[in-house]
Amino acid sequence: MSKQNETIDWHARAAALKPDGRAVINGERVGAIGGETFAKHSPIDNRKLGDVVRGQAADIDAAVTAARAAFEDRRWAGQPPARRKKVLQKFADKILAAREELALLETLDMGKPIQYSLAVDVGATSRCIAWYAEAVDKIYDEIAPTGDNALALITREPMGVIGVVVPWNYPMIMAAWKLGPSLAAGNSVVLKPSEKSPYTALRLAELALEAGLPPGVFNVVPGYGHEAGEALALHMDVDAIGFTGSTRVGRKMLEYSGQSNLKRVYNELGGKSAFVVFDDFADVKRAAKTVAGSMFFNQGESCNAPSRVFVHESIAEAFTAEVVKQAPRYAPADPLADTTVLGALVDEGQMKTVMGYIEAGRAEGAKLATGGQRARAETGGFYVEPTVFTGVANDMKIAREEIFGPVMAILTFKTEAEAIALANGSDYGLQASVWSDNVNRAHRVARALRAGTVHVNSYDEDDFTVPFGGYKQSGNGRDKSLHAFDKYTELKTTWLRID
Ligand code: NAD
Repeated sequence: MSKQNETIDWHARAAALKPDGRAVINGERVGAIGGETFAKHSPIDNRKLGDVVRGQAADIDAAVTAARAAFEDRRWAGQPPARRKKVLQKFADKILAAREELALLETLDMGKPIQYSLAVDVGATSRCIAWYAEAVDKIYDEIAPTGDNALALITREPMGVIGVVVPWNYPMIMAAWKLGPSLAAGNSVVLKPSEKSPYTALRLAELALEAGLPPGVFNVVPGYGHEAGEALALHMDVDAIGFTGSTRVGRKMLEYSGQSNLKRVYNELGGKSAFVVFDDFADVKRAAKTVAGSMFFNQGESCNAPSRVFVHESIAEAFTAEVVKQAPRYAPADPLADTTVLGALVDEGQMKTVMGYIEAGRAEGAKLATGGQRARAETGGFYVEPTVFTGVANDMKIAREEIFGPVMAILTFKTEAEAIALANGSDYGLQASVWSDNVNRAHRVARALRAGTVHVNSYDEDDFTVPFGGYKQSGNGRDKSLHAFDKYTELKTTWLRID
């Protein structure tokens, strides 16, 4: 972290902050039509941050109407790509300029350490918008090879109104992964952030307006999933839903589409990613350090957290000892302190869910190697120690279900075939990782693993140039990379007969 950041008194700034919880519709800050609000508390200490609009169907309808009007009069879609690029680049710059405010809001809202909100969340959000801005005036359409007497143009058109529903674990980044490609392509957006982390999305909408995005193109309506989220996904004038969240709600999104206008549904869902370490990987310490870092990052509240760790039985003891040695580095601490690496879970409910899984692990016979307790209860906030279970079987609850907290399950295997079968023995298929110094084995296993991303001798590799998404019940469609444009554009064929 820079010197400048080390001198910031984040607690003083937090005390002075009065976040605005009103929706952004058609370029204006507005309350709910019926006046509904909900109280938002910080998981750091359970202090109330403010009252936030509790959007209802009428509010969603107002936002969709504004978005549709903006799309139909082509105030954004009609601008040349090079112009849209400039506006979005400015938006990306404004995000960076507001980095301290956005980072503080993110940390207060969902509990992650301030150093990561600054360096990871704000940075990745700005870079994402800039990346799609840069791309949009470099993508060409196609002419089909149809012969002399015809011309068939294959063009991409923006889809219209995109409903975006995102979770609370990376509130800005998850929103940016949808906003980047959908706005760059010329769509209008109605974003419903998680009720657990609404503030940064609202500020993003204001920054976009300041950057020159026309009113109505990017609207944000906070509220609960079963109210605002459901109303958006059921709306007859929304063309597609870009959803990131749980598999349970992803299933509902598909139902809402079937019950309404068959809008496209792109689901980025949960995970239970496998981390497979073979005995021919020499640097056990590096593998252990990597898995701890990736598992405990963001309090374990990452869709791609390597929560199922498969280790060859001959190195399991040494590997586990190294992982346990890492645990003190991830002791929960004050999220507003510059050096903290593990902060608060998002709310009391999530903490109870995680503690419930720890209890289930014990009850099913897994062995607690470290952690397992609530921490920092005296703060009023919701913290859980980094926790490692050994002696886990693949059919135990803690190996099957997504915990979404700092809990790692270590399992053992004897053969390569067994490792592959165990790793693939999950409803999820978001990410996986294979650790081996044998290049043939590394390629063989990487091919066999059923996951959207496979890392070899690494984890958490990340770049906007590559797609992100899952196999199986981890979802469909891909965020990031140029492939994301496929989700928010329609392909049109135009035939011209040449006499
Ligand atoms: P969630 O599914 O509970 O909520 C996600 C969003 O959906 C929230 O905005 C919520 O308000 C809304 N929602 C809830 N019920 C709804 C309903 N009935 N209709 C419409 N909207 C509804 O998930 P969460 O707890 O916020 O986030 C954690 C989940 O997100 C985890 O499963 C995690 O793996 C997943 N996730 C996936 C990715 C990915 O890229 N695959 C990335 C981040 C998080």
